[in-house]
Amino acid sequence: MRPFGTTIFSEMSALAARTGAVNLGQGFPDTDGPAEMLAAAAEALAGGANQYPPLPGIPVLRHAITAHEQRFWGLTRDPDSEVVVTAGATEAIAAAILALCEPGDEVVCFEPYYDSYAASITLAGAIRRPVTLRPGPSGRYEFDEAELRAAFGGRTRLVLLNTPHNPTGKVFTRAELDLIAELCREHDTYAVTDEVYEHLVFESEHVPLASLPGMRERTLRISSAGKTFSCTGWKVGWATGPAPLVSAVQRVKQFLTFVNAGPLQPAVAVALGLPDAYFTGFTAGLRERRDRLVSGLTDAGLAVLPSEGTYFVTADIRPLGGTDGIEFCRELPDRCGVVAVPTQVFYDHQDAGRHLIRFAFCKRLDVIDEAVSRLKKLT
Ligand SMILES: *Cc1c(COP(=O)(O)O)cnc(C)c1O
Repeated sequence: MRPFGTTIFSEMSALAARTGAVNLGQGFPDTDGPAEMLAAAAEALAGGANQYPPLPGIPVLRHAITAHEQRFWGLTRDPDSEVVVTAGATEAIAAAILALCEPGDEVVCFEPYYDSYAASITLAGAIRRPVTLRPGPSGRYEFDEAELRAAFGGRTRLVLLNTPHNPTGKVFTRAELDLIAELCREHDTYAVTDEVYEHLVFESEHVPLASLPGMRERTLRISSAGKTFSCTGWKVGWATGPAPLVSAVQRVKQFLTFVNAGPLQPAVAVALGLPDAYFTGFTAGLRERRDRLVSGLTDAGLAVLPSEGTYFVTADIRPLGGTDGIEFCRELPDRCGVVAVPTQVFYDHQDAGRHLIRFAFCKRLDVIDEAVSRLKKLT
């Protein structure tokens, strides 16, 4: 693990704290989630729900997870054998990879990738086979079909897919997912999907890979309360899938954390059961923030790439004379009092992302407006 130093988020958040810059680096909301959820957590905490919950999670939460999957994505699961609650999506991802991979197995993933992926793949002794997402003619991030086909081979154990995708804001289309599914079936591999932004798609639609033909039986679908309910500090996540895969994840999870977040589990069950209006309002709120930040970044002279979902938007720094995102982000607080993160640190092929930086818009509108007014100093 020696190559895995401190994350870029720690460096950039420390920079924000030291300089008083507006922190659009790390992706955490600056407002609280639904009041019903917070009240349920307080009630559980005061009501004695403070000991170890059952290993797979409390029944009321497992039922809420399956009901939510049915309501939004039409997936039907058994809450007793096809769901496991985890310490955030992060633990579910780590446990899934540790459970499914033997040393030397290969994991196909798309770069830039979420920073825990490389670490979890390394912990399992597995090897990552990154396929690069690059802005195409329309600005949308795309992958090359031949490159994806070439990434699959005899040692491929699983494909690790994040859609909607952090850090690019890409939402994989049905056609792209069809190709990924075809390759999984052809090479008889598993899929592990990270869908923590399932409710943050601004234009198109979110399609779970598990809903495509032949994929349900080979897919572990992972999500989490953190992003959807603005409670990233709670670390309540889950994995759903066929019973043998869920049981394998549970066996690993048992020795990572055993269980977590006892009094928060009933509260997340309440949140998952909120009416559709919560979810549509949440998406609309983030869409407005995205639009506000995108127009500010464009006015500041950056070449903004389309953000179709998530908390994030990426931009090309070359129109402002920048060539290296790390250097650009280190200087940004002094130049204009704003913090962003370079995305090149999320690539194995760093050249592909050298000129790209990421901004988070999961912030109050007044915070975004302040950042936008400071960014004007760049031009
Ligand atoms: C935030 C995030 C996670 C981590 O989720 P937790 O529930 O906080 O562990 C995983 N994947 C992606 C893509 C994320 O952005």
